[in-house]
Amino acid sequence: MSRAAPQNPKIGIVSLGCPKALVDSERILTRLRAEGYEIAPDYAGADAVLVNTCGFLDSARAESLDAIGEAIAENGRVIVTGCLGAEESVIRAAHPKVLAVTGPHQYERVMEAVHDAVPPVHDPLFDLLPPQGIKLTPRHYAYLKISEGCNNSCSFCIIPSMRGKLKSRRIDAVLKEAEKLAGAGVKELLVISQDTSAYGVDLKYAPFAWRDRPYETRFLDLARGLGELGIWTRLHYVYPYPHVDAVIPLMAEGRILPYLDIPFQHASPKILKAMRRPAHTEKTLEQISRWRSVCPDIAIRSTFIVGFPGETEEDFNLLLDWLEEARLTRVGCFKFEPVEGASANALAGAVPDSLKEERYARFMEAQQAISADILQGFVGRELDVLIDSVDADGAAGRSFMDAPEIDGAVILDGAQEVDPGDMVRVRITAADAYDLFGDIVRPGPDTARHAR
Ligand code: SF4
Repeated sequence: MSRAAPQNPKIGIVSLGCPKALVDSERILTRLRAEGYEIAPDYAGADAVLVNTCGFLDSARAESLDAIGEAIAENGRVIVTGCLGAEESVIRAAHPKVLAVTGPHQYERVMEAVHDAVPPVHDPLFDLLPPQGIKLTPRHYAYLKISEGCNNSCSFCIIPSMRGKLKSRRIDAVLKEAEKLAGAGVKELLVISQDTSAYGVDLKYAPFAWRDRPYETRFLDLARGLGELGIWTRLHYVYPYPHVDAVIPLMAEGRILPYLDIPFQHASPKILKAMRRPAHTEKTLEQISRWRSVCPDIAIRSTFIVGFPGETEEDFNLLLDWLEEARLTRVGCFKFEPVEGASANALAGAVPDSLKEERYARFMEAQQAISADILQGFVGRELDVLIDSVDADGAAGRSFMDAPEIDGAVILDGAQEVDPGDMVRVRITAADAYDLFGDIVRPGPDTARHAR
């Protein structure tokens, strides 16, 4: 039986400006083609026209505005991008009818504007890409990047000098992407950035609509929006600012996973100050106990650095005491190493390698005992588990406490009747320092909203 290809929408493109703008146009064309759009050779055959503008010289700006005017006159449905797009008010003053305006290199926003103007036709037999796009993660979980760059200046880190200041994505774009991923079968979203709790500061928390409701581009609204999707949402790289408290009730209600990845890095105020950590003055133990009073099961994961320059035995013991009291579920530890270009390299008081090793071993031993004790407390309880892999010995999955790749697992010996991506209810029968062991009691998550 022969089958006709669906009618693909056609986009016209007018590309002005320098070679960098041309590369932008090529990238946009590649994305358009990969999503099944055809490129229209003239205005008449196009469902919408994209004008990639130049804003460098006055003459180039005039040429760009003329090109937009011509496209509106000839076709009527025009999306503007490129350098002049950074000055949306200039374009809208001259051409109020343009559908959308985006700046240079904003491929994602251009594609969103195209989707809004001319929705793509997805056909699994003809399309190159699945509807959720190409993901490097297994189909049942996906990373959701909410921003690039960082406004902090931690002394051991060179990311801000490599990636620049914080640039947040608009909340409607993030929520639409999350919705698309959920619609494509993704069961777990892992929110990532360099500083998730600072999300939206650079956009002054600008409000946008999603599902006909207003959301501000900020951490709390992001968690609220993602909590509407009915799949697991896991928050990474959150700093312990006071405003983080506001998301804990969403965890207690089962809207997002009761999991917070907070890179505390140390507990000694002196070392945190030398590290120039964000929120280093917060009283973190009090904050953790406040969170637990709202959401008792909250799993807190963190990373720490031992052997930072100037770390004395007293600082290190303070860290161990803090660890005992904080009782974090998941912990990673690194021995300090200078990174080329980081300001911490110039700090006095380098810790000898042998001492770093010794502190690392003491730290890991202390945390193993804590983690084993916490996990032991889950024996006899039931948890929702998302299956990651199945082999001849059984299946392995993760509970709300386990982010993929970095945390532990729930081992289901002999379980064969499941597939990766299935959510099952598991009775926990045993635990060690990192993993839980259990039996499936029934398919599907608990009827109460996800998680515990
Ligand atoms: S370590 Fe500090 S400076 Fe580096 S990305 Fe994280 S918050 Fe930003």
